[in-house]
Amino acid sequence: MPRRIAHLDMDAFYASCELLRYPQLKGLPVVIGGGRRKEDDLLGKLQAAYPDGEWTEDSFVERLERIPVDFFPCIEGYTGRGVITTATYAARQFGIGSAMGLMKAAKLCPQAILLPVDFDRYRHFSRTFKSIITDIAPVMQDRGVDEVYIDFTDVPGGQREGGRVLARLIQKSIFEATGLTCSVGVAPNKLIAKMASEFHKPNGISVVHEADLQTLIWPLACRKINGVGPKADEKLKGFGIHTIGDLAAREQHWLVENFGKSYGAWLHEASWGRDDRPVETESEPVSMSRETTFERDLHAVRDREELGAVFTRLCQQVATDLHRKGYEGKTIGIKLRYDNFQAVTRDQTLAEYTADAKQIRQIAGQCLKRVDLSRRIRLLGVRVGSLVKAGTAQPPIAAYSEPPDQDPPQVNDHGQTQLLFPLD
Ligand SMILES: [Mg+2]
Repeated sequence: MPRRIAHLDMDAFYASCELLRYPQLKGLPVVIGGGRRKEDDLLGKLQAAYPDGEWTEDSFVERLERIPVDFFPCIEGYTGRGVITTATYAARQFGIGSAMGLMKAAKLCPQAILLPVDFDRYRHFSRTFKSIITDIAPVMQDRGVDEVYIDFTDVPGGQREGGRVLARLIQKSIFEATGLTCSVGVAPNKLIAKMASEFHKPNGISVVHEADLQTLIWPLACRKINGVGPKADEKLKGFGIHTIGDLAAREQHWLVENFGKSYGAWLHEASWGRDDRPVETESEPVSMSRETTFERDLHAVRDREELGAVFTRLCQQVATDLHRKGYEGKTIGIKLRYDNFQAVTRDQTLAEYTADAKQIRQIAGQCLKRVDLSRRIRLLGVRVGSLVKAGTAQPPIAAYSEPPDQDPPQVNDHGQTQLLFPLD
């Protein structure tokens, strides 16, 4: 049986989840991003507009559907550093896309409606669509909240029309259960499937065979290969290599000479559409982390309380993630990005595994002592790595390691106090 691997990508996933509850926004430019959700504010406004209480008998869902469009906030005049996570296709027509700053988007399309992110809702739909897939085709690999790889090879009917029939069935089943659309690429491997799922977005199916390499894959930009990032792409362009076909025309040894042994060899294989990676059903996480970008850059001294509170919250969130997914880890780390965009990380490895918020906070606090806190901070993150399934860790040889010392705050070369966050 020839390998048939599908890559399924939900269409504008976050935005589509929002449009399910606000169908009145369908067809309008809507962007998701920025701060917390303000749905209750919308309901408050609604009640103020209809004080006679005509809404009280409606179900919550129906109320949301009846919020007039002009009650939703627009991005016009937005100031701040919020970034777009997803834009509806109507918004994309204005040149708006994921990862774009909201201020820039506000210039391109001031009338776009801005909705805050609601990860709980997206995770709910994520679980739903994935369980529909595994009911039909059990070999599925998670690739994040809105995309998966699926191995069609041995699924009954998985070879029909190169996988198109099964892709259509999955697409239809997801739509019927959730109202959400997705796009699917079916190909001989993950590498090409991932490219193919973009060919006919939204709600499209693309089937690629090995023989289609020259006509469908080689004309694409190198950047379309999952694994060619902006840096590699720039270097390739410097050599006059723009398309995957250009890349395939280079000798492997030339690529190795210029891009290193493993990356060069991989580039060669990728350009010829070769990829043996299996669809892995259970990918174990290596680490879990939470980070936040501040509305304004914060300073360790002047914004001590705010920073301390955020820091503690991040630690609690990571601990909650660990508990919910049943992991513990022993490498605790922090990440900081300064106002000049320079990033630093520090970590510390414990003798024992933990998922305890207080302990994570304590060790992360120790890590923070080791970085320069005289600069203003733009982003703060906390990470727990070296994960194992909770309860499976071998007991350490030493029954108990020394508790981390509680150094007094240190003064750096500039005479500024370095550790200023309150420790638990
Ligand atoms: Mg997607």
